[in-house]
Amino acid sequence: MEPHATQHPASDIFAKAVFSGETMRKRLPENVYRALQKTAREGKPLDSAVANTVAEAMKEWALTHGATHFCHWFQPLTGSTAEKHDAFLEVDESGNAIEKLSGDQLIAGEPDASSFPSGGIRDTYEARGYTAWDATSPAFVLKTRYGATLCIPTAFVSWTGEALDKKTPLLRSIQAVSEQAMRVLRIFGTDRGVSRVQATLGCEQEYFLIDRKHFERREDIRLCGRTLLGAFAPKGQQLHDHYFGAIPERVVGFMTQVERRLFELGVPVRTRHNEVAPGQYEIAPTFENANVAADHQMLTMHVLKSVAEQFGFYCLLHEKPFAGINGSGKHNNWSLATDTGVNLLNPRDETHTNMQFLVFLTAVIRAIDLNADLLRASIASAANDHRLGANEAPPAIISIYLGEMLSDILDQLARGTPRSTKKGGTLHLGAHTLPQIPRHSGDRNRTSPFAFTGNKFEFRAVGSSQSVAWPNTVLNTIIAESLDFMATQLEARLGRKYNEKKLEQVVRKLLQESVKKHRRIVFDGDNYSRAWHAEAEKRGLPHLRTTPDAIPVLNQKKAQQLFAKYDVLTPRELKARVDVLTEQYNTILAIEARTLTAMLRQHVMPAAVRYQSELAQAVSATKSAGVPVAHAQRQLSDLVGRIEELSAAIGEVERAEAHSDADAEKHAQWIRDRLVPAMQRARAASDSLELVCPADLWTLPTYSEMLFIR
Ligand code: ADP
Ligand code: MG
Repeated sequence: MEPHATQHPASDIFAKAVFSGETMRKRLPENVYRALQKTAREGKPLDSAVANTVAEAMKEWALTHGATHFCHWFQPLTGSTAEKHDAFLEVDESGNAIEKLSGDQLIAGEPDASSFPSGGIRDTYEARGYTAWDATSPAFVLKTRYGATLCIPTAFVSWTGEALDKKTPLLRSIQAVSEQAMRVLRIFGTDRGVSRVQATLGCEQEYFLIDRKHFERREDIRLCGRTLLGAFAPKGQQLHDHYFGAIPERVVGFMTQVERRLFELGVPVRTRHNEVAPGQYEIAPTFENANVAADHQMLTMHVLKSVAEQFGFYCLLHEKPFAGINGSGKHNNWSLATDTGVNLLNPRDETHTNMQFLVFLTAVIRAIDLNADLLRASIASAANDHRLGANEAPPAIISIYLGEMLSDILDQLARGTPRSTKKGGTLHLGAHTLPQIPRHSGDRNRTSPFAFTGNKFEFRAVGSSQSVAWPNTVLNTIIAESLDFMATQLEARLGRKYNEKKLEQVVRKLLQESVKKHRRIVFDGDNYSRAWHAEAEKRGLPHLRTTPDAIPVLNQKKAQQLFAKYDVLTPRELKARVDVLTEQYNTILAIEARTLTAMLRQHVMPAAVRYQSELAQAVSATKSAGVPVAHAQRQLSDLVGRIEELSAAIGEVERAEAHSDADAEKHAQWIRDRLVPAMQRARAASDSLELVCPADLWTLPTYSEMLFIR
């Protein structure tokens, strides 16, 4: 298929269709611009006169980009994005059509939201949901070949103010972690000029590309986003010839167009390369504040999908589109930075910041140790279950990789006798190796689910198709709790007045205690090894293998109290998320099971039976010609055996799928224990048939056809 991509002159590549920065400053009166900045910074409500001016300017600007409609763009609990479009057109008093966007329309919307999952929140009251403008994330114009729409990022809540979306709790968690981090800065006296601490986020997105013509002929990919059957291709990733290899020209064309579209939307994409598996690629942006980064991540997935179509590809974002080769993840690079630009997880030269760094580092270690189960639950999905622990992705056991140097420092801290020396007026917290940590010294252990990579943590267990809002909400919240703990301890032990020396003693003591308690979560070895599973169990680390194992963690008192304490989610809001997650798991597997049996009955079985009859005819014809047929007969009976196996397996899947349980959690367990294994057996039976069936009878695109695009 000919790509019919929009052509941009080279100078246009960096032209943005984003209402922020210079564009905003140019188009808004000074006082309005400042009021808006203040709102964005402090979350203050916008004055309606200001809102009207902003709306008018935004509309005028959007019209120059060809927008005819505007929409409130939000992220319901489905995990995707939603938009309801309204035209700018309105009729004035004299009956003339005018283009209008009022302040009210900018600030709030009332989409009829009864079809979005609410986990029971909304039905109790009424069907309406409300969208509220998030002034901290820039509005953008989304262009298609057919027109353009001004998209206004919004939060989505019920009329009681309860969050029905993924953005609202993320914003609350960002606030919570900022407040607690600020307390730590105050203790160290490094808060001067800092008004808030930002969670920073950069997500590396892995994906597969296949030819669209194959996609159209694979019902499993069309309906489930992954292959439910398919024998491995003779060549997979054994030769390691794809990773970072030369990118096929058509794919480069696709990537270039993706980057143009993303630049236009204000997404700072930076890196692109081939990934490990054939047909697998990666795209990564430069990090931004977590809220904007999460919005931009949703846009990235959207653009990947839509540009793929233009180039005759289909883009698979699923965590495990193909068995037997690597799956896809989304490395979630996370840190904390002051709004003055200081990365708080960057080990720095001066003792002062060094101690502070160690407090932040230890707070993270403590948070992950106390909440490894929650973090695991934050990335639980039917799709991610195929990937975690499958010897190519981090296991479902959460642990932290620190690297040799930091681990050594941790050991010193735990012993409580760091080689503390006083030299030239600077204190060394026994951590004199710290300043020499080369950036990225620690990120070569690719097996760790949560790795310190020089100046940030990389949460690698996040799934490729997932919205990053929820895992980051959980991450920010548990870190907020840990910083709260550290700050509270330090404040109490230090009293109102303290000098440098006392600060150092108190910090060292607290670090020693914390490190001793929580060091078990640190593991620098091979996370894929069997030995680690045994070792982790000995250390008492949770190993929640599947989604039905992980989700109930969110129902526990501990989780409820944590989210409530930091005003991130009320118990009801949390419960709603648990219900939606469970329901999604159950529904996805029901769809997969039905798709699988349909494909087995409509494609695989007919191909096999046709082959059986061909063979049978060959056998009898050969026999009547008086020629011995031992070989063909063996082949026939082997084939019939495989068909019997498949037939039994289909029945098993159908019976398991027919089961129902009013209790969604119990049903999820049934699915895990009965349906999933039955589907695996059916797949194995089908794949074994594929290997013996003649190619001309096999109606489905094979792995080797799909995986090697040129
Ligand atoms: P890799 O993990 O493949 O070696 P990089 O080190 O280039 O990749 O960075 C991966 C991602 O981490 C990028 O999106 C980058 O912007 C992001 N990143 C770098 N520093 C930070 C930070 N302080 N906070 C959040 N993300 C960051
Ligand atoms: Mg990475």
